[in-house]
Amino acid sequence: MVNHHWKVRALTDPSLDSDLSLWVQFDHARFLFGCGEGMQRAMDQRRLNIKGLKGVFLPSGRAAGRNGLPGLILTSATQGVDALDIIGPPDTAHHFATFRSSVAGVTKGQVDVRCYPFPRNSPPGDAVPIYPKSPLSVQAVALHPNIHNADFRESRNEFTDQPTASTSATESTSSGHESEGKVAAIEPSRYQSPDRIAEYLDTPLLTDDGKFLLEMYDRKQAYPLPTQEDTETEMVYICHGPPRLGKFDAKMAEELNIPNGPLRAKLVKGETVEIQDESVEGGVRIVKPEEVVSPGQPPPILIVVNCSTRNLPALLSSPAFLPYQPKNDSSDAPSAETVNLVVHRVTSDVWLNEEYQAWRSRFGHSTEHLVTLTDKPRTSTTFHGAAWLSLRLWLLDSDIFPLLHCIARRTDKISLPPRTALLAESHVVEISTEQPPVISPHHERDVPFPGTASEVEAATGEMLADMPDFERAMKIARERVRADPRWNAEVSEAGDDITITTLGTGSAVPSKYRNVSATLLQIPNVGNILLDAGENTLGQLRRRFGPEGAQKALKELRLVFISHMHADHHLGLQALLEERFRLGISSPLYLIAPYGIALSLRESASWQYEVPQEALNNLMWINNETLNPNSPDRHLEPETQIEEDVAQEAAVYTEGKQRWPRYDLSPSEENQMQKSYYRQLRADLGLKSVKVPDVWHRGRAHGLVLSHVSGWRIVYSGDTRPCASLAKHGKDATLLIHEATLEDGMEELADTKGHSTFTQAIQAGKNMNAKHILLNHFSQRYPRFPRFAIDDPTSPPGSPTSRSPSRVAGKPKPIVAICFDLMSVKVGQMWRLRYYLDAMALTFTDDEVENVNAVEAIRKDVNGAGPGTGGARSPSFVGKRPSKGGWQPQSTFKRHKGTDGLRPKSPEDVRPRSSCGFGLKPRSSEAST
Ligand SMILES: [Zn+2]
Repeated sequence: MVNHHWKVRALTDPSLDSDLSLWVQFDHARFLFGCGEGMQRAMDQRRLNIKGLKGVFLPSGRAAGRNGLPGLILTSATQGVDALDIIGPPDTAHHFATFRSSVAGVTKGQVDVRCYPFPRNSPPGDAVPIYPKSPLSVQAVALHPNIHNADFRESRNEFTDQPTASTSATESTSSGHESEGKVAAIEPSRYQSPDRIAEYLDTPLLTDDGKFLLEMYDRKQAYPLPTQEDTETEMVYICHGPPRLGKFDAKMAEELNIPNGPLRAKLVKGETVEIQDESVEGGVRIVKPEEVVSPGQPPPILIVVNCSTRNLPALLSSPAFLPYQPKNDSSDAPSAETVNLVVHRVTSDVWLNEEYQAWRSRFGHSTEHLVTLTDKPRTSTTFHGAAWLSLRLWLLDSDIFPLLHCIARRTDKISLPPRTALLAESHVVEISTEQPPVISPHHERDVPFPGTASEVEAATGEMLADMPDFERAMKIARERVRADPRWNAEVSEAGDDITITTLGTGSAVPSKYRNVSATLLQIPNVGNILLDAGENTLGQLRRRFGPEGAQKALKELRLVFISHMHADHHLGLQALLEERFRLGISSPLYLIAPYGIALSLRESASWQYEVPQEALNNLMWINNETLNPNSPDRHLEPETQIEEDVAQEAAVYTEGKQRWPRYDLSPSEENQMQKSYYRQLRADLGLKSVKVPDVWHRGRAHGLVLSHVSGWRIVYSGDTRPCASLAKHGKDATLLIHEATLEDGMEELADTKGHSTFTQAIQAGKNMNAKHILLNHFSQRYPRFPRFAIDDPTSPPGSPTSRSPSRVAGKPKPIVAICFDLMSVKVGQMWRLRYYLDAMALTFTDDEVENVNAVEAIRKDVNGAGPGTGGARSPSFVGKRPSKGGWQPQSTFKRHKGTDGLRPKSPEDVRPRSSCGFGLKPRSSEAST
C-alpha cells in the first residue's frame, strides 16, 4: 500500500538566511510547511524537485515564513506544476494578491493557484478542517493575541457594520474557505468609499472553491487593495496521514458478491463502492470498506506549532488539542489520537515557559518532539555548495572574497525533555502507522560546510591538497597581482574607493550558487546604495556581513533602486524594510521604484508592523518615470492615470498602521512632493544628477545613472538588451554594472528576452566609454560546455598583442570583471579580478559550468588586464600556451568528464554529468527575468 510511510524532512531551519521549512513527502505528493525567503535555493542545494509539490502551509502573517511564496509560485509555473494549494492565515489570498503586478500576471494560465485561508469567523481556538484532502488531511488552529479575550472575532468583523458587507462576511463558514475571498477583499473598515466597497464586492479574490480570480490582476486595475493586519496571526496545523487499513476478507467479499477487479481494489484503498444489484431497490448496492476490510491502524499524526510569546495564552486556552493529549500521562495507551511528531517553531520564551512545557508533555510518551527557536537563528549555513565555493575564492584574494559568516556562535544550552531534539536542517523523520517516528540525518549532496574556525582551517588544507592545479594557479595569480604596478599605487581617482558587494548575481530564480539580483554600493561620505533587491537580499546581507555588519549596512542605507517589476529584482524589498524598522532605524531612505512596488508595499501590512509614523515618513518614494530623461513630457511628472487613482484614495490610509506612502495629497501636491524628494535626494547624497532612463527589456524597465559632485558616475543597467539611451546618459561612467544574462552565440534569444550576451554587455560599456565594467545577472540556464575562444594563442601571457585595433590606438581599455555572490570589491581593485580568471575556472566542479561560461566572456574580450592603457596582456588563460615547463592548466580541465578542456569531443561529452536540481535545468521560459 502506498502512502503509509511518509517522511518529514527539515529543509531549512531558522538561520541568518533562512526560516523553518518542512518538506513532507508522500509517494506522489509533497507539501511544504513554511516558505521563507531562500527556500528555493535550499531545494536546489538538496536536489528536491518542485514538481510533486501540491500544497504550501504558511506559518503566520509575518514576512519571515511566507515571503518565499511569490518566487516559489513563479518557479512552479515555469517548472510544470499545474496546481498549487496555499493554506494559511486569514489574509493568505490578500497576501498573494499584493504581488499581482509581478507574480500573478506571469503565472496566469500556467499554474492553478488555490487558496485556503483560515476562515475569520470560526470560534476562537477551534480546529478548522482547512484542508481535508488526501494523502494529507489538515486541521488548523489560528492563534491571535486577541483570541483569548474574545475581541478577536469582533475586531475582525468590524466591517460587518456595513450592510453591503455583512452578507458575505456571515456566509463565511467554519468548514472551509468559502466566501473568504470576498471577506478578504472587503473587510477593512477604513475603506470608506461606498463605490469602492461595491467594486470589491463584485471582484472577490477567490471563487467559492478557492481559485484565484485573475481578472483582479488586470493591470488597469491599479488601485490598491485594502490593507490587512494579520501580522500577528500564527497557525498550528494538525495533520493526519492516511490510515492503514486492515486485511481484505476475500470470503466476505465473496458473500457480498463483489466481483474481482477494480471495485475490490477501491475497497482495499478505503473507498466506498457501488455495485449493480437488481435485487435491491434502485438496482445499486453500497458497500463500505469496513464491511470487507478488518480494522487497521489509525492514521499517523503530525502537529506543527507556530507560536510566539504574544500568542501563548491563545494556544494554551485552545480546546483543539485535548483529543490528542491523554489526560493520564502514565497510562500512555496507544489510542486513535496518538500524535507521532510535534514540531515546535517557537520563541525561546515560549519554549522555556512552564505552562508550555506542561502542555507539551500532555501529548504523552509516544510522541516525538523537534524544536526550533525562531529568536535564536543559527549562524551555520544551509547553502553548503555556495559556502565551499566562497572558501576557494577566499584563498585567491581575501580582500575581495571575504569568508562568509558561517562560524557557529556559542549559544546558551537549553536542556531538553525526553523524546525531544533540537531540529537540525538535515533531520529526516520517517513516519508510519506501525512504529514510532525514526529521526535520522539525511545524506546531503554537498559535504556540510564546517561550523568552527578550526574545522574551516583543516578543510582548507585538505582542499588545497586535493586541488594541486588550483593551488598552483592561485599562487601564479597572486604573484602577478603583486607584481602589477597598481598593487602599491595610491588610490587617486574619484570612485576608486567605492565598494561593490554583489548580494545576488543570478537571473530568474535563486539557485545554488547565485541568488537573484541585488548589489550594494558602499560609498565613503555618501552612504550605501542598493541596486535591486531580489528574494533573500536580507539573508545575503547577513551572510556576508554577519548580524551586526548587516545592521550597520542597513543603518547606512540611503537609497534603494528597483529597476523593474520582474520578481527576481524586488521580492526581497519588504523583508529588508521590515528588518530596518525592526532594528529601530528611522533615518531617511529614498526609494526609486516603479509604481507597482509602491502599490505592493502600501497594501502589505507586514513591513509596516509597529513602525512609528516618523519612520514611515522618512521613507521617500520617487517613481522611476519621474526621473526618466527620455520622457521629457513626464519628466518629474507622475503618471497621470495612476495619479487619478491615487488621488481618489486620498486620506484613506493616513490613520492606523497602513499609512505609507502618504496619499492625502492632491495631484499637484503629489507632484511637488516628488520634486522635493528628488531635490532632497541630490542634496543628501551629493549627487549632481539622478537619471532613470527606460531601457530595452520586456515590459517597462529602467536603468540608473548616478553622477556625483566629486566626479564619479555609476551606471546600472537593470535588465536590458544593448541600449543606446543608457550609453548616452551613462557616457564616461566610472563604473558600469551591466547584465550579461546569456552566453555569446545566443544573441537571438537574448534579443527576444530583452537581455544581453556577455560580449554585448562588454560592448555596451565600451560604447559609453566606461572605465570599469562589472558583469552580472547570469542565466540559470544550463549551458553546454563552453566553447573556449582562444584569443591569440601565439601571444605569450603578459605581452602586448596587436590584434585589437583599439589597442593599437592606445585608447584606455575598460577593466572588465565578472562577479560572484557575496564578493566585495573596490572599484580601484577591480583590475585584480582579471588575473584570477584561470584559478577561478579551476574552482568549479562539473555542475558549476555556468561559472566557467561567465569566465569565458572575459576571455573572449581581447582587451587585457594590462595597466590602464591596455599595454599588457592578460595573464595565462586556459587554452593558451603557458610558458615552458610551467603550469599546464588545460590538463586540469580533464576534471570535467569527457572533455579535454578545449572543445567538446562529442554531443555526449557536452552534456553535463549531473542530472542536477531543478534550478539548473533548461527553462521553458525565463518568466521572471
Ligand atoms: Zn527582467
